[in-house]
Amino acid sequence: MSTNIRVQRICQHCGNDFTARTTVTKYCGDNCAKRAYKVRKRNEKINNSNRETKEIIRKPIEQIKAKEFLTVNETAILLGCSKRTAYRLIEKGTIKAVNLSERMTRVKREELDRLLS
Ligand SMILES: [Zn+2]
Repeated sequence: MSTNIRVQRICQHCGNDFTARTTVTKYCGDNCAKRAYKVRKRNEKINNSNRETKEIIRKPIEQIKAKEFLTVNETAILLGCSKRTAYRLIEKGTIKAVNLSERMTRVKREELDRLLS
């Protein structure tokens, strides 16, 4: 392979013309290569973060499904409704709930399975 070739290329980072020694050189110099690398790394971080967020959102539902007794809040999450709606369904008797104390209403998950099936 000849090392004397000179190819005219356009930097993928800054868009400037430059002369490269290989046809696969992407950047005009070390600075652009470093900056492009940083941008790529940052995008990777953003993507990872977005993926983690999605997992965090999905996880509680899996955890709720594994529970036998649910709080009203968890009931609302599982039903995909607001907490207020969940309370109303309980008040109307649509959802059977147990009042363990004034601030402790529990719904059996089986009850929701029955409602939704
Ligand atoms: Zn450049």
